[in-house]
Formats: sequence, structure tokens, C-alpha cells
Amino acid sequence: MSDFKHFEYMAKHRYEQVVYFYDKTTGLKGITCIHNTTLGPALGGTRLWNYASEEEAVIDCLRLARGMTYKAAAAGLNLGGGKTVLIGDPDQMKSEGYFRALGRYVQSLNGRYITAEDVNTSTKDMDFVAMETDHVVGLEGKSGNPSPMTALGAFHGIRAALQYKFGDEDFTKYSFAVQGAGQTGYYLIKKLVEAKAKKIYFSEINPKHIDRMKKEHPDVEFITPDKFFAANVDVIAPCALGGVLNDQTIPQIKAKVIAGTANNVLLEEDIHGNMIKDKGILYAPDFVINAGGLINVYHELKEYNIGRATRDIEKIYDRLLEIFKIADREGIHTQQAAKVFAKKRIETINNVQDNYIVR
Ligand code: NAD
Repeated sequence: MSDFKHFEYMAKHRYEQVVYFYDKTTGLKGITCIHNTTLGPALGGTRLWNYASEEEAVIDCLRLARGMTYKAAAAGLNLGGGKTVLIGDPDQMKSEGYFRALGRYVQSLNGRYITAEDVNTSTKDMDFVAMETDHVVGLEGKSGNPSPMTALGAFHGIRAALQYKFGDEDFTKYSFAVQGAGQTGYYLIKKLVEAKAKKIYFSEINPKHIDRMKKEHPDVEFITPDKFFAANVDVIAPCALGGVLNDQTIPQIKAKVIAGTANNVLLEEDIHGNMIKDKGILYAPDFVINAGGLINVYHELKEYNIGRATRDIEKIYDRLLEIFKIADREGIHTQQAAKVFAKKRIETINNVQDNYIVR
């Protein structure tokens, strides 16, 4: 018997709503969590995963929804945090009916929650969702692939980190190692090449991605994954997996800056955030530096305009500088400072909206 206390957990982290749904025709089994809608409708993708248990699914959904609240708030968006998880085998479940059934449950929340693609769901699946609801973004032919925009945001984030750590943004003076040359890593390396970075290394495990990089950028040097953390460079950019900053890897790091696209890179936020701080390394908080894709998709809610989206993504630079200053001023690690920054914005806007006005 599970002893997970749903309402205790919701109260502790101030969740608003958890919805369970089941479609008898298609077998759709899902959970939508809405963490906080102070700033606007909750936005978060739909993840399809073969969870080992229903409890694992609900905990994942709750955790991811809360993460979206901070990510949207720190990105300056008028969005709250939410998430949907679907329980099932991605190879077995997917069909038009399955995603249209999902669309109807999303619609039933009447705009309090907006969905998008995530792990094991695609823009094609979202086209079916869109047949039943307007509250879906990331559709084919609209804001497009988020990865180049995520990489663009990370590039501006790296600029901010260089500025804060070294006092300039002259890429020709600095060397980089990028972990993962998949979607976001590939585009980030392109930006670093364009900026004429002094030296770029990359590590990968997928032979196709290694070959692509070697063909397109022969000067970008491959290093085996075990050499990544100890690379003798100024900046390391994790663009692959979560949990990679931990007790084993942090002592190896020689770089002075960690800034990449990957999510949840600190294995234990406080322990490893502080370990990095104590080594004098500047860490760009993941949910702030990798928000480019979210900012891009947010623009789909209005009339999508790539110029406006790009300009908003550039603001990651100023936001990170502000967060680095908060961390130094308060003597806290930068991930914690990013949360302080996000919570402050939610609180301020909440207070501003206290005044009654007629619209
Ligand atoms: P991806 O799967 O396209 O790329 C990841 C790459 O890392 C793959 O090529 C994979 O082979 C490689 N890899 C895996 N293990 C490795 C290892 N041990 N050493 C070196 N390389 C390894 O994924 P992506 O879309 O680029 O996302 C990367 C990270 O960025 C994820 O954490 C994701 O959650 C995060 N992120 C992505 C986006 C986006 O727009 N795609 C937005 C925000 C955050």
C-alpha cells in the first residue's frame, strides 16, 4: 500500500489542482497537475511514459508541474506551471482517438491548463489534441522546433556567465566542452562556432551525431564521454542528461563556468549547488538558461512572430546577470537564487493584481 500523502504534499508545495482521467474507449490513463496560476494559465507538455506505478506517475507529474511554475516565472512569461503525464507504453497506446480523448480532457479545464508535446509525444500527436481543444501549443507550422530557440537562449546565457565571471564576452578567448550533440547541443555548437570560440570540444554516444559534427564542423574536437567533466576548458555545457552534476563529477571539473541546455542537471539541488559554489564555479541555473523553447512556444498564444520571440529569448542574458547578483548578495547557490527570483516575481504580480479594476 502506498503511503504517499497527496493532500499533504499539495498543501506543502501549494498546488492548486490535480485531475485524473480515464477514457474507456482508448484506454487513455492520465493525470494533469496544475501547480500555480498566479501569472496566467498553467502550461506544460504531455509526457507519455510506462510508469512502474501510478504513484510514480503522480509524483513525476507534481514535480514537473512545479518546475514549470518557476521556469515560466523566471522567464518573465504570464504563465503558470502545469504538466500532464499519461501512463502507458508509447509503442502501444498512440492513436488519433487516444490524443483526441486527451484533447477533450484538456478542454474540460477551460483554459486553466495549456498542453504541448513532451517526452514520447510529438507535434503530430498534438494536431489530434488540437481537434478537440484550443489550449495546445507547439503545433506544426506555428512556432516550430523549439531546440534551436533553446540553444539560442543558452548561448545568451553563456554570454551572461562569461560577462559575470570574466568581465567580457569575447568568445575568441574562451574554450568550451559540450556534452551531447543531439538537438540542442548541435545548435549550441553552431552558435559557438559562429561566435569564433577559441576551442570547442564535444562528447557524444550516438555515432550518427558524432559523424554529423565531424562532417559539418571538423574543427570541433570529439572527446570521449568519460573525459567531459575533466576537460581543460573555461566552460562546460551539459546538453544531454539530468543528474550529471554530482559527487563523482563535480570534483573533476576544471572549468569556471557551467552553462548548458539540459534539465535537472544538479543531482541534489542544495548539496550539489553548494558544492559547485564552494569550488568558485559559476553555474547558470538550468530552468533559466534553457527557457528559450518555452519562451518561443509562449508566443504562439498570441500571433507568432519570430522577431518578437527572439528578442524575448535574448532577455535570458539580463535575467541571469540579476540572478548571479542575488546569489552573491545573499550568499546562496545560483539555483536557489533563481527560485528566489521566480518566487519574487509571482509574489509581486500577485500583489499588483490585488487592486480591483474594471476591464
Ligand atoms: P537529444 O536527445 O536530442 O540530445 C541529447 C544528446 O545527448 C543525444 O545525442 C545523446 O546521444 C547524447 N548523450 C546521451 N548520453 C550522453 C553522454 N553520457 N555523453 C555524451 N552525450 C550523451 O535531446 P535535446 O532535445 O538536445 O535535450 C537535451 C537536454 O536539454 C535534455 O535534458 C532536455 O530535457 C533539455 N531541454 C531541451 C529542450 C529542447 O528544446 N529540446 C528545451 C529545454 C531543455
